[in-house]
Amino acid sequence: MKTENVAERCEVTRNACVVCSPLGATIAFAGVERGMTLLHGSQGCATYIRRYVISHFREPLDVASSSFTEETAVFGGAGNLRLALENVVREYAPALVGVATTCLAETIGEDAAYVRRSLGMSGGAAGAASAAAAAGAGTGAGGTGAGGGGAPLIVAVSTPSYRGSHRDGFRAALRALTEATNPRGAEADAGADAAPCATQGARKCAAPATVALFPAMVSPADLRSLKADIGAFGLEAILATDYSDTLDGGPWKAHRLLPEGGTTVASLSRMRGASAAIEFGADFSADRSAAGFLEQAHGVPRHAMPLPVGIRATDAFMSVLSDLSGKCLPPALEAERARLLDSYVDAHKHVFGKRALLYGDPDHVEALSGFLREIGMIPLLPEGEGRDFAQAEAAARASEKRGEPVDLVIGNGKGYKTSLKMDVPLVRTGFPIHDRFGGQRVRVLGFGGTQELFDRIVNALIERKQEDSDVGYTYY
Ligand code: SF4
Repeated sequence: MKTENVAERCEVTRNACVVCSPLGATIAFAGVERGMTLLHGSQGCATYIRRYVISHFREPLDVASSSFTEETAVFGGAGNLRLALENVVREYAPALVGVATTCLAETIGEDAAYVRRSLGMSGGAAGAASAAAAAGAGTGAGGTGAGGGGAPLIVAVSTPSYRGSHRDGFRAALRALTEATNPRGAEADAGADAAPCATQGARKCAAPATVALFPAMVSPADLRSLKADIGAFGLEAILATDYSDTLDGGPWKAHRLLPEGGTTVASLSRMRGASAAIEFGADFSADRSAAGFLEQAHGVPRHAMPLPVGIRATDAFMSVLSDLSGKCLPPALEAERARLLDSYVDAHKHVFGKRALLYGDPDHVEALSGFLREIGMIPLLPEGEGRDFAQAEAAARASEKRGEPVDLVIGNGKGYKTSLKMDVPLVRTGFPIHDRFGGQRVRVLGFGGTQELFDRIVNALIERKQEDSDVGYTYY
């Protein structure tokens, strides 16, 4: 009898170096003030995501679920979904409920469109109130409730993990949030201090000039540093998601159901009046891009660029800020840039020609790859789609066969076993980092973040050289 290898027949991902798509959506929703995620699917998905997020950020995070059972999987989950929404709104009084679908829900056809239909949403913020009312959850008007009695904004997003990773779920959530809070045809709401914008003619934009920022899935520390960089030019930043406090805050005197911080729903609605939208990442296809939507629907000029890791990429970011503000690079940032450049020269002998294997979130891989080339290192990229460690390790083996062994592995903490297998150091960046402390404070962006990353790479190489030396080599 002929046997069939299932792995050959199906497209499978084993030992993934990325994580689950609704996890990315959960992080994005956690960056909205009083934002709450409701996963449409099984409880296990919510448990897994909570555990993964908490272990990285070391902060509490509640994730609700429509709790599929065998019966729901066969006959549909609309009833569960409505009940879950009612419970969430009653217990948490959220300003936003982000409903993200899981693999099982999507497999039986219950995608974002189904969620919207089931909740009686017409889509966008206008649908939020009717959805909440349909769920018996509140009577406030509009979709911009701030919790504590008003109807929450409800956003639905399709996030099957077999169609993408945490990066895709994160981006899909930002797009859904942007569409819901800035519906086509809505007037620009630039706030009380609105003034005609010099660069946009009659179009009004907020004063000071406002930048709508769509970060990739970066650390809270990097979000803080992006806000500081934009602020240094005298610009106001509206982050499409800002989990810099909600997922990296201080201690509480009393338990809270939802942490303080995050971008308000009202601020999100102001993005359509921004002077520009800056979007970081490696994939800028119009149908997936939140900044693309703002540009198409509201004429907000869009600047799409890789994450600012390294001098070249950070210069490109700074140049946009400089054009928008009409100001030169502020002296503090210029000094930071000079120190970084100086360190490139100082450590050139340690990094030049060294090979580093990259893996994980494509937004990070692309940015790190550009940075490594800038400092004279050789990036090795996973073969194929780069979703699992087999593809990453294949790239390393191919390089070894050419007589060019890998010196370093750079990526999230899931690469630990790969680094052990190859017997090279691992420099941890991105998400998740479970096997070290402080993953939420790892910086890689801007001149300051690049400096920290550069120092870590150089020291990892020096440390390995030191370990391999049998003569007590201590002076470099
Ligand atoms: S990969 Fe799919 S099934 Fe697994 S936790 Fe994520 S959504 Fe749930």
